[in-house]
Amino acid sequence: AKADDIFRNLIHEAEKAGIREEVQILKTGCFGFCEQGPIVKVLPDESFYVQVKPDDAKEIVAEHLVKGREVPRLLYDKSLSMSRTGLEDIEFYQKQFRIVLRNCGFINPDDINEYIARDGYAALEKVLFEMSPEDVLEELKKSKLRGRGGAGFPTWMKWKFTKDVDESEKYIACNADEGDPGAYMDRSTLEGDPHSILEAMTIAGRTVGASKGYIYIRAEYPLAIKRLKTAMQQARDMNLLGDDILGSGFNFDIEIRLGAGAFVCGEETALIASLEGERGMPRVRPPFPAVQGIWGKPTVINNVETWANIPVIITRGGEWFSKIGTEGSTGTKVFALTGKINNSGLVEVPMGTTLREIIFDIGGGIKDGKKFKAAQTGGPSGGVLKDDFLDTPIDYDNLIKLGSMMGSGGLIVMDEDDCMVDVAKFYLGFCVDESCGKCAPCRVGGKTMYDILDKITKGQGEMEDLEKLETIGAAMKRASLCGLGQTAPNPTLSTIKYFIDEYKAHIEDKK
Ligand code: SF4
Repeated sequence: AKADDIFRNLIHEAEKAGIREEVQILKTGCFGFCEQGPIVKVLPDESFYVQVKPDDAKEIVAEHLVKGREVPRLLYDKSLSMSRTGLEDIEFYQKQFRIVLRNCGFINPDDINEYIARDGYAALEKVLFEMSPEDVLEELKKSKLRGRGGAGFPTWMKWKFTKDVDESEKYIACNADEGDPGAYMDRSTLEGDPHSILEAMTIAGRTVGASKGYIYIRAEYPLAIKRLKTAMQQARDMNLLGDDILGSGFNFDIEIRLGAGAFVCGEETALIASLEGERGMPRVRPPFPAVQGIWGKPTVINNVETWANIPVIITRGGEWFSKIGTEGSTGTKVFALTGKINNSGLVEVPMGTTLREIIFDIGGGIKDGKKFKAAQTGGPSGGVLKDDFLDTPIDYDNLIKLGSMMGSGGLIVMDEDDCMVDVAKFYLGFCVDESCGKCAPCRVGGKTMYDILDKITKGQGEMEDLEKLETIGAAMKRASLCGLGQTAPNPTLSTIKYFIDEYKAHIEDKK
């Protein structure tokens, strides 16, 4: 989007205008408002310039920075001028509540001091000098935080399993192998706030008795990798990573391991195999990684979003966190809102927010005034939600009841023109491509289901194919070894359940 050119031009223009020494021109992580990017924010005026182009740099410097006059044509909302107080005045952000994305867009991720200035590393300090490992677990338990990677397992329990194993060598791992189509929550968090992940992993190391952590990240995320490396070096330089952290006697360091883009490596046992240098294939559980993980040692694995919540829970308290969201799903959830939506972007909302609020209030409704048809949550592991469910509060349990799941947070919106059989075929095709082939239910079942869907979309389907799809799908869910095969039928099964007419139309009309 030429953001780098804008950045360079702003510096160049500021130099030309002789004000380079008076202004700081900084890069930040993502503001989340992707539809309106690139964004330039001028502080302290809070001016929020959107869809900025490289040539606009000249006017921003000449008018705003030199003469103190906003450039109205670039403002997102012309009624919001310098008197504004912040993002909360912009509709897109009004129903959002930022915990995970608290620093994204607000700090320069390459500067540890900016992270520290916003309470960064305060939680680690507290854990090192004021809290026992039991206190940390108690705080996590009170928070009721559940893993954001998809399954929603209570985080404190995972940590406790690892802590309770009598073993001198333990590991901490960050799953940054985000692979759902349309999902980019973890990438943005790592690019915008890398220190929050390092801090959280160090806290976990201290709590469970591990001195080494791994971040498993896909090689397709070069900027996130670069920022993580910079952050790790800065943390080491300030003794926030490494030996005898802040004189506490606790040693902990982190290593980055690159994944080669296999979707199945997001499954934690496959991730461990890949990290150990083996082919990335899931392993039979139990034993679970919390007890027998990396190199056969007890390992805490959480995904990026889960980690990003930890420092805030420690500084603000588990009870504070537990009051956000719903009884069974506390805190917030980050969604990558994409598809036929006016404001595509990254949104963070309290659990329990309805689909209607996300799509219409935050997302600004459906593109080109078309009618909403369905939303896909949970990527290829999830299912579709039709308009009847627009007012259902979104949390782990409700989504499962509706035949979908939270997954990692991809939310793809479809309009009246989208064919739901094509949607099901797309997601199943993705899973067939990504299946590691280790177990027959997924390897054979997925391909068989895909061939049937293909037949139906080509107008060659029979009515009994629908029953076959349901039977094979149910068998895959029961018998596949890992989450990929267990959830791959979800989009097909949920579209059959809610959009059976579209399947019948293909079959009856032979097209
Ligand atoms: Fe591999 Fe699929 Fe079996 Fe998982 S379910 S182990 S991806 S073949």
